[in-house]
Amino acid sequence: MVLHPLRHELPIAPAQPVLIAAELQAFLDSSQLTGLDVTWLSTDQPTPRGEWVAIVPLLSRWVGGTELKILPKLRIVANCAVGYNNVDLVAAEMRGVLVTNTPGVLTESTADLTWALILATARRLVEGVDLVRSGKWTGWHPEQLLGLELRGKVLGLLGAGRIGQAVGRRAPGFGMRILYAARGAKADFEKETGAGRVDLQQLLAESDVLSLHVPASPETKGIINAETLGHMKPGAILINTARGDLIREEALANALTSGHLGGAGLDVYTEEPAIHPRLLAAPRTVLLPHIGSATEETRRKMAAIAVANVQSVLAGTPPLTPVF
Ligand code: NAP
Repeated sequence: MVLHPLRHELPIAPAQPVLIAAELQAFLDSSQLTGLDVTWLSTDQPTPRGEWVAIVPLLSRWVGGTELKILPKLRIVANCAVGYNNVDLVAAEMRGVLVTNTPGVLTESTADLTWALILATARRLVEGVDLVRSGKWTGWHPEQLLGLELRGKVLGLLGAGRIGQAVGRRAPGFGMRILYAARGAKADFEKETGAGRVDLQQLLAESDVLSLHVPASPETKGIINAETLGHMKPGAILINTARGDLIREEALANALTSGHLGGAGLDVYTEEPAIHPRLLAAPRTVLLPHIGSATEETRRKMAAIAVANVQSVLAGTPPLTPVF
């Protein structure tokens, strides 16, 4: 084969040094990593000091002032999550470092998991499984493990963005009426599902199942506390697949133990992976290990978007999914 003489003279651009969470290696193929000199960084390793120009962290890695300081060449933090409360956005902006996330691709899997939690909590699935496994089940009984029938009840959505709306779109199939609270009205969502927009007070007072879908922010931190829990309907169920910081966990444990709430289904916690001991001991809880987006398909898409953001920025083009 005759090669064009010029091919030999083209300078080969040096591969760009990047840090990528080692846990993502299984979800990426070599074609996505072209032009990158990857250092795989596992969760238990601290962020190293060095000349890396990009980092693809998981939510478990804090990227703040110190990390930005020891990575002086950093151009982008491509967070592999839709949330980005593990990144100090102010520090990044001051340093001129771009921050991206992976919105959209987690929506359907997280909405499915939210419904898994709603059904498991309402119908006392874990207690049922435990009873069968214990060998103490003595047979069908009309009053055994009675739960909440969803048909005709109100599903309250705190936050009606991508995931909140996807959860809402599944509700008519279960015969639930939808109320939601968000900063702005969602006309298309209302038209599609018949959802009604209310303020937080009405949402708390009328929801039989209250599901949280706002991001963690200074305004939403602790939004579910002793006072707001007190305004919830007696026997209502609280579901959280958003962020642990939204809930004051001690207050939630009190509301469950006193019987004011009918149950709680949680995927996220304030001090992950530690879980408040009173929540662990509280009745009628379904506690999952932050698996909202844990499907093979979604993980691949998340890793692909995070790395595509890196490739785009290193090529001098705008990031695909910037946070700001
Ligand atoms: P999104 O599309 O940005 O939706 C966020 C919603 O929250 C919007 O409706 C927004 O209202 C509303 N909101 C924001 N701040 C508010 C405030 N102070 N008061 C009332 N409403 C407020 O986000 P998303 O993709 O649906 O994701 C939601 C959250 O789910 C993420 O931030 C992440 O923390 C969490 N998540 C968890 C998992 C998991 O594994 N469990 C997976 C994916 C995501 P406006 O529309 O009016 O602005």
